[in-house]
Amino acid sequence: MDMIAYCGLDCETCPAFTAYLDDDQELREKTALEWQKAHDPGIRPEDINCTGCKGSGIKFSWCLNGCPIRKCALEREVVTCGHCSEYPCDTVRFMIDSVPEARERLDSIAGA
Ligand code: SF4
Ligand code: SF4
Repeated sequence: MDMIAYCGLDCETCPAFTAYLDDDQELREKTALEWQKAHDPGIRPEDINCTGCKGSGIKFSWCLNGCPIRKCALEREVVTCGHCSEYPCDTVRFMIDSVPEARERLDSIAGA
């Protein structure tokens, strides 16, 4: 469960994790362009580095400082949102409504 983010994303399949692991500058540049369009025009290739949502280590800045799901799950000390008695709450809903794999993973943990 270490590489499954609190929100249900699989960090092992995230380009920020792969770019960090493989020190892949081409992937950083490609991902920065995609995430600029999808999320934030200020994202730079050097921002595309992450060791995953959990534990210590370098993290993509939004996941570290901006993500309300991660913040809440850390406060509640749950393994994932699927382990939380409030699941599915309004905070996690934007993720599970937009990423079906995340919902499936968390639903299966929650036994829904
Ligand atoms: S925590 Fe890191 S590896 Fe996981 S989804 Fe966010 S950016 Fe990707
Ligand atoms: S309250 Fe919602 S966001 Fe917070 S840990 Fe529980 S399910 Fe996740």
